[in-house]
Amino acid sequence: MHDKTIAELAAGLKAGEFSSEELTRHYLERIQAHDPALNAFITVTEESALEAARAADAAIKSGDAGPLTGVPIAHKDIFCTDGVKTSCASKMLDNFIAPYDATVVTKLKAAGTVMLGKTNMDEFAMGSSNETSFYGPVKNPWDTAAVPGGSSGGSAAAVAARLAPAATGTDTGGSIRQPAALCGITGIKPTYGRVSRYGMIAFASSLDQGGVFAPSAEDCALMLGAMAGFDPRDSTSVDQPVPDYTAALSGDVKGLKIGLPKEYFGEGLDPEVAKVTEAAIDEYRKLGAEVVEVSLPNTHLAIPTYYVVAPAECSSNLSRFDGVRFGHRCDAPKDLEDLYKRSRAEGFGAEVQRRIMVGTYALSAGYYDAYYLKAQQLRRLIRDDFTRAFEQVDVIMGPTSPSVAFRIGEKSEDPVSMYLSDIYTIAVNLAGLPGMSIPAGFSGGLPVGLQLIGNHFDEGRLLNAADAFQRATDWHRKTPRAFS
Ligand code: GLN
Repeated sequence: MHDKTIAELAAGLKAGEFSSEELTRHYLERIQAHDPALNAFITVTEESALEAARAADAAIKSGDAGPLTGVPIAHKDIFCTDGVKTSCASKMLDNFIAPYDATVVTKLKAAGTVMLGKTNMDEFAMGSSNETSFYGPVKNPWDTAAVPGGSSGGSAAAVAARLAPAATGTDTGGSIRQPAALCGITGIKPTYGRVSRYGMIAFASSLDQGGVFAPSAEDCALMLGAMAGFDPRDSTSVDQPVPDYTAALSGDVKGLKIGLPKEYFGEGLDPEVAKVTEAAIDEYRKLGAEVVEVSLPNTHLAIPTYYVVAPAECSSNLSRFDGVRFGHRCDAPKDLEDLYKRSRAEGFGAEVQRRIMVGTYALSAGYYDAYYLKAQQLRRLIRDDFTRAFEQVDVIMGPTSPSVAFRIGEKSEDPVSMYLSDIYTIAVNLAGLPGMSIPAGFSGGLPVGLQLIGNHFDEGRLLNAADAFQRATDWHRKTPRAFS
């Protein structure tokens, strides 16, 4: 059953080939058998999953089923889930039971999905390798000595190992696209504002966006259709109707204008990854797309800009974790200041503390103009690059990550080299654009992702371009042998 796409699972459920309860049990058993090797889950919600599955079966019987009714999924542990531990993979929230559902969770529940559990991630979504989790690193299903990418590494590993048909994620600087690439699955980060951030624990509010992982673009289209939409509880969610993403999948990319940013194919790109990326672009040429070179001249400014804006916003967002209202509180505080200091020093890991310090510094009275204001100005230049490129082309394509999955421990002592691994994904968040990563091939036995970047609210075109590639190739159907 676990080699089926969501569309196939939904058809099987409707035809009565299997029940949602059977399907859910099947995935719960897979999690039990395989998760010890991967560490992809923080919490497995077996009982409530089976209960939801039985309710889905009743809905299917009474003819009330939608396209996702009875399909099991997992949620990144950054989404609040009513009555279920929501930790953000931090010691700070190890004891936090969310009192409400995030809008994404509410919407996917309403669509009839069955939550299997909550997935591991980098602490507060800060990282590119899943090594900053309080619960230990997640392993890549293609090679358990390698990282799955981050920060949504648990969701990506779970879907790649087929421990869940789909999983939610969030992407602030690449945290859906990069783990999708490193784990050989499909992931989409929609336009900023397309999916509600309500109940999604905030890291950098002007960059964070929820999205989804699944084996195929068709599955992502189904899932995104259920997740997206205006939410009066999120002032940055955009009031625009959600198109039927599945209907956008024509399979036709004839005449599609694809731009290849010359800055994405230069120094720093692994030659094998370049080869696989170029072969994928050739496939698009064969399918009738027109490929031209474009330039995003401020690409080199994306990482320095992001590492001012994101820490600044995180330092503000994470000030709510003070030992008083949420989560970890130190033992026997001497006074209020001691309570704040020790609760935060004990509750947050090293990377989170590093970012809070950088962000607090950048926002401080003497440095605000020199760092934060400057970064906002650069952010505009980066966005203008894309605006100009989209005057010439429909979609931008290139590598998702400069290399395949690296070894666990290889970059964890060197934050700057870790930061550099997001070179192709971060600018997309600064510009608020939608982006995807799709499986494009392998290098040394590890998956390579092709990145697709669209104009604002052009998710339908992105999904169609991804789907057309997947109709012509079968990279997205490959699964890691150890978890077949
Ligand atoms: N790797 C980037 C960071 O550490 C992006 C993380 C994300 O998208 N959540 O900030």
